[in-house]
Amino acid sequence: MKVLVAVKRVIDYNVKVRVKADQSGVETANVKMSMNPFDEIGVEEAIRLHEAGKAEEVVAVSLGPQQCQETIRTALAMGADRGIHVKTDDELQPLAVAKLLKAVIEAEQPGLVILGKQAIDDDSNQTGQMVAALLGWPQATFASELDIGDGNARITREVDGGLETVDVQVPCVMTTDLRLNEPRYASLPNIMKAKKKPIDEKTPEDLGVDIAPRLKTLTVTEPPGREAGIKVESVAELVDKLHNDAGVI
Ligand code: AMP
Repeated sequence: MKVLVAVKRVIDYNVKVRVKADQSGVETANVKMSMNPFDEIGVEEAIRLHEAGKAEEVVAVSLGPQQCQETIRTALAMGADRGIHVKTDDELQPLAVAKLLKAVIEAEQPGLVILGKQAIDDDSNQTGQMVAALLGWPQATFASELDIGDGNARITREVDGGLETVDVQVPCVMTTDLRLNEPRYASLPNIMKAKKKPIDEKTPEDLGVDIAPRLKTLTVTEPPGREAGIKVESVAELVDKLHNDAGVI
């Protein structure tokens, strides 16, 4: 079985994101970018399947500008076998990503497609669901455990009330949650080896996909700043403030 993993290049999770002065979006110039953390978990899971003899090949796919190749190289250094880069400098919304991934998936015919449950930049939590719907494949979102069987996948999902275990037929789409695994760091020899692994380049035109945005961002604003704390003189005053000012008791 081939496993295809989507890896998105996003602003690194340690960076303090700044809104552009014209409120059209967030500042990405000269900002550290990394692989979306949920996608690192996806790559790790795919490699573990490979190591366990349950996957023959792991293909990492990224969509976006030239620098996405760095994200693919990170996946290759972790242990993926080859990469596919769908190159475009245009804005990609989740529906466009899903259509592009569908085209790649139809060409590659993987048994399992792994995406992150959400990208930490747009927080859409849409792409995996859209890919499954466009393909007409089963999906299991927010996975915290995966057990590949013969023609099926048993996936434990993190839901509000606890854990839900579902059986889905393969091929299927799975999106990763935080507790699925702890991604490995790439070792230096593997980083060197990754430089020789192939990355196939395509464009949305090659795949015949219309990526025109369907949504328009009106404004992006900073969250309200935190107000300074105050010191209270007594427990009675604290209780009074919690009751009357904060309204929490
Ligand atoms: P979202 O629906 O935007 O929150 O993204 C969910 C997941 O879709 C991400 O964790 C990635 O696995 C995948 N994804 C979204 N955009 C891209 C992209 N440009 N390139 C590769 N994967 C993507």
